[in-house]
Amino acid sequence: MSVRWGLIGASTIARQFMIDAIRAQADGEVIALMSSNPERAEAYARENGIARAVSSLDALLNSDIDAVYISTTNELHLEQGLAAIKAGKHVLCEKPLALTSADAREMVVAAKAAGIVFGTNHHLRNAGAHRAMREAIAAGRIGKPIAARVFHSVYLPENLQGWRITKPEAGGGVVLDITVHDADTLRFVLGDDPVEISAFTQSAGMASGGLEDGAMCIWRFKSGVIAQSHEGFTTKFAGTGFEVHGSEGSLIATNVMTQKPVGSVLLRTANGEEELSFEREDLYTRSLRHFHAAIRGEGQPAATGEDGVWSLASAEAALQSSNTGKAVAIDPQLGALA
Ligand code: NDP
Repeated sequence: MSVRWGLIGASTIARQFMIDAIRAQADGEVIALMSSNPERAEAYARENGIARAVSSLDALLNSDIDAVYISTTNELHLEQGLAAIKAGKHVLCEKPLALTSADAREMVVAAKAAGIVFGTNHHLRNAGAHRAMREAIAAGRIGKPIAARVFHSVYLPENLQGWRITKPEAGGGVVLDITVHDADTLRFVLGDDPVEISAFTQSAGMASGGLEDGAMCIWRFKSGVIAQSHEGFTTKFAGTGFEVHGSEGSLIATNVMTQKPVGSVLLRTANGEEELSFEREDLYTRSLRHFHAAIRGEGQPAATGEDGVWSLASAEAALQSSNTGKAVAIDPQLGALA
């Protein structure tokens, strides 16, 4: 039986990656698209070969669909997610799940009560590079992890220089956009949870309306590992990377904080340097495969709703730290859900 998807949001990410990822599944179909604007809905559906275009959430949720993918601007995720859950549809929601971790928790609680599958589209967990690093660390290949460094400052492409840099009310800003991914990737690769964060943010000339377009964060993890991360929209030539340094070795990954299955991972120990090989499957296709399996009752989405609460609680703490000048504890308050 196929999984029949409805898309909420005539977005760039759905057009560039997610429609193809759904269609790459043997059992995935894109049935309908919802946009708040009827003309945009029609045009988008036509351009992407989607049979049905609607301009109300009710119309979409009343379609013959099993699951929804939510990729609207961030302030809409909560209301749309709760409505989809209420309608009994499985939900794959974009990050950040909502504007606050309390709202994200509300969605996760509602999804659990409804018995539907709920996932967060943190794609980087699906990258072969990050999975190779996680496995190397778990296998003890760098000894005891001591510190991590994340280089995730990019140049926001011109076609995306909209709500992200002008609309605080839509959940703009680099912290809700990119720091959430770094939180999730650090948790995934280290197999550890952050407990505290200290952050400086800046507006380096691209973002307006009080939004930040650059951030540097320092993280402390439960195990004692400390990490630093740099997120930005304004650096054209920086390149990306992810490093973990341990007592017996270092993992140095280059060009891996991206949407594509590219980059390299180097393991450096007393024995010399070794390039780790890893799978190059499309990140979003793998995410969808796990989501479909979860619908069949096999395992969980690659990133769960709880993972989305963790990343948003981390981003929230980063923003609070930047505003107050103090380190802030990270607490997703998931105890009641465990
Ligand atoms: P877009 O700006 O492309 O789309 C967001 C919304 O903007 C759409 O739902 C649409 O509203 C509206 N919109 C799109 N085009 C136009 C237009 N020409 N004129 C007016 N309105 C328009 O957003 P992104 O695809 O960049 O991001 C969407 C979500 O996905 C965000 O939550 C973001 O954080 C997340 N994201 C996640 C990524 C990942 O790798 N996990 C990568 C990129 C984004 P309507 O539907 O009403 O038509």
